[in-house]
Amino acid sequence: MTAAPPPPPPPDDAIAFAEQVLTLLRQGAFTSTYKYAVLLGLIELAIEGVSASGAPPTMVTTHQLAEVVVRLYWPQVAPFADAAGGVLRQNTRGQAEIVTLVAAARAELGGVTIARAAREAPARYARLVRDVEWKLVQMPLPRLQTFGRHEARFIYDIAWTADITRAEFERGDRFANAIDLRPGVGAHLVRLDGLLRPLLHREWALQVAAINRLPVATLDAHLFGVDRVALRPVLAGLRALQDDRCFYCDQRLRAPEVDHFLPWARVALDAIENLVVADPRCNGSKRDHLAAPPHLDRWRQRLRRDRAALVEVADAARWESSPARALGVARGLYLGVRDGARVWSAEAGLIEVADAGALRALLAA
Ligand SMILES: [Zn+2]
Repeated sequence: MTAAPPPPPPPDDAIAFAEQVLTLLRQGAFTSTYKYAVLLGLIELAIEGVSASGAPPTMVTTHQLAEVVVRLYWPQVAPFADAAGGVLRQNTRGQAEIVTLVAAARAELGGVTIARAAREAPARYARLVRDVEWKLVQMPLPRLQTFGRHEARFIYDIAWTADITRAEFERGDRFANAIDLRPGVGAHLVRLDGLLRPLLHREWALQVAAINRLPVATLDAHLFGVDRVALRPVLAGLRALQDDRCFYCDQRLRAPEVDHFLPWARVALDAIENLVVADPRCNGSKRDHLAAPPHLDRWRQRLRRDRAALVEVADAARWESSPARALGVARGLYLGVRDGARVWSAEAGLIEVADAGALRALLAA
């Protein structure tokens, strides 16, 4: 006998929503790591979709989700020394099909970053995204919100079922690419990012560790870490743009480091607009914190004033430029900041936010 599915949480109850996500994670229904990828993907899209007025999105597309899922798996399919066969397995039986697709594209394109792959081999990248989109449509999306044998849609609604064929997907009959977020869910995903992301990373790493019979400690950096080496090509250009001064304290740079202004631990955004150069002191003390109003103001100014210069730096390094995404992510992350929350300032370390509204106003329009 299968227990009845839990009733959907009330739209205004973020904690009940989070509990339901945890229940979903504890079920052993998936043999692959897709559920983590889909949930993390939805969180990223909810954050970057926050509007100028601070409203989270009510819908995302399967194409958008496929792009994020490709970005998530891309570094993970890089050769891993301790993995049998070189690439970590992400399915209890054989390899997860999405991993096979991403690994094949990455190998073909010579192991470049995903941004470079999208820039330099747009047709190949588009084909990869389309194939991954189909896999998401066919497999995890219609099955994710299943408890035991019952479906209980509490995250999103979709217009197709698990028996859809690729021909129907390609033709667009019985298929529409909308993933409609249920009432309140966009806001929950934005709000709960700081809680859910570390948990999803942890569960994902544990499953990969179990499948590959490897200690989880060796996997974290490979699966979710910042690729410091890959960031090197943008250093010189960003340094010049900052007149060789630290972005945060304005001191002359001695041992410059590339820093993710919007913390990597909160959202995986590598676009040039999210990268600044800082000295080790500021970078080390900022860690995973959001930056205080003066820094945010400066960042917003740079996004406006140095838009073309940033694109030039990106082009020279064959890097990704996504000003709209960067601004969306900033709005999404700062939307969750309440009065009294702690943000980081180069001058004073961690400080309390006195007026969260004023902070968000910096990001409007
Ligand atoms: Zn500094």
